[in-house]
Amino acid sequence: MSMFKDIPVEVGVIYEGERIRRNDMQVELGGPTVKQKFELAKVKPMNEIDDGKITIIGPDLKDLKEGGAYPFGILVEAAGEKLDAGLEGVIERRIHGYLNYIEGFMHLNQRYDIWIRIGKKSFSKGLNSFEPIGKVLYRLFKTELPIIEKAQITFITDVAKLDEMYPDAVQAYESRDAKARGLKDEDVDTFYGCALCQSFAPSHVCVITPQRYSNCGAISWFDGKASASIDPKGPVFAIPRGQMINAEKGEFTGVNEAAKKRSMGEVNQVWLYTAFDHPHTSCGCFEAVTFYIPEVDGLAVVHRSFKGATVNGLPFSTIADSAAGGRQIDGFHGMSIEYMRSKKFFAADGGWNRVVWVPKEVKERVKDFIPADLVDKVATEEDAKSIDELKAFLKVKNHPVVARWTAEEAPATEATALQVSEEAAGTMMPVATAGTLPIMAGGFRIILKDAKIYANKVIIQTVKDDKQEKR
Ligand code: SF4
Repeated sequence: MSMFKDIPVEVGVIYEGERIRRNDMQVELGGPTVKQKFELAKVKPMNEIDDGKITIIGPDLKDLKEGGAYPFGILVEAAGEKLDAGLEGVIERRIHGYLNYIEGFMHLNQRYDIWIRIGKKSFSKGLNSFEPIGKVLYRLFKTELPIIEKAQITFITDVAKLDEMYPDAVQAYESRDAKARGLKDEDVDTFYGCALCQSFAPSHVCVITPQRYSNCGAISWFDGKASASIDPKGPVFAIPRGQMINAEKGEFTGVNEAAKKRSMGEVNQVWLYTAFDHPHTSCGCFEAVTFYIPEVDGLAVVHRSFKGATVNGLPFSTIADSAAGGRQIDGFHGMSIEYMRSKKFFAADGGWNRVVWVPKEVKERVKDFIPADLVDKVATEEDAKSIDELKAFLKVKNHPVVARWTAEEAPATEATALQVSEEAAGTMMPVATAGTLPIMAGGFRIILKDAKIYANKVIIQTVKDDKQEKR
């Protein structure tokens, strides 16, 4: 049942998580093919808000050609006695949740990455203007967050206006992020969780700590705190940190308990500072994704708007699919760009010492947070377009992972330590058994648990020999 009689389509939580495929879409707003896109919330003085006003700058929905993708911005301005600028991030993130309540409306991502589709069916039912969409947004803000006393909403499709507003939006995101820097995880006894993305990734729970921003990059620890206090029944909740189980990996009793409860038992253990074994779950709207490159024993990062293939030959979409859905995938980690500025950024894996490849655009953005002696050692798409080029680059630059290659060759030469059976030839007895046997191929690490391998012939070669042959 629709919440609102004067809106041409239904509005309700059942539409959260609705996907609109390209063939079913009337138009796309923002998204991967469009440069100008953002959503922003601003808190204003009471007298500057015309309560309930919806403004459309540029062509309205009905004027946009079917099947096209268009530049797009949403500005929500709010006022209230108890509102302050510290709540802007909280208000802004609710745009995602509320718009997804609209039948035939798909909203993905956040900030400068928004991606919206309006379904053909809803368009033909009358959802052909931003006016009703603004009304829904306005009413949900007022009812769900009573701290908002007045609000006005602006939709922008005019490219010149978007270009004019975009730098201010980016500046607003940056000052919000900067405010959250400085506080350490050890300084607080409460973390925050967000389950907003469970409509798309049912077992996903974001754990937001002072040094680990949410995956979407839209909620800092301060935002989490503010959100949980103004809307305790909302998607953001407090997580008492509990006992520290493992300081290096970032494991806490409170986080494990919250993950287990909120994921309905799917996720029992979360390590916050590593991409391996029990990494933080990845939803689907993460800003970037980290992926392990076994050939160099290093971590690479790719962000959502990176075009083309990464250094392992796969594009963002394929790598993101390997991680998304609320799963914990060893060696994959959906995350925010802001997490790359944290001292806890994969601290258990070596931090920046383990990062080998990052798109140039991201590297530029986080450059000041990369240790000075490593800046030139982290490759971008301009330095390496393949694993072989990456290996050569890392070697020339003497990246810290190169020392790991030498260290790891030793156990590899000791492959004979695996139980190799002399009877293997011709008898098909297991030639190797191992509790955990990693296989590295094609940019992925496949781990066989309790493996027994059968073969007609066994060739044992040192990793060194193998590398020399390839060179
Ligand atoms: S990515 Fe995390 S913090 Fe952001 S909306 Fe989704 S669950 Fe919430």
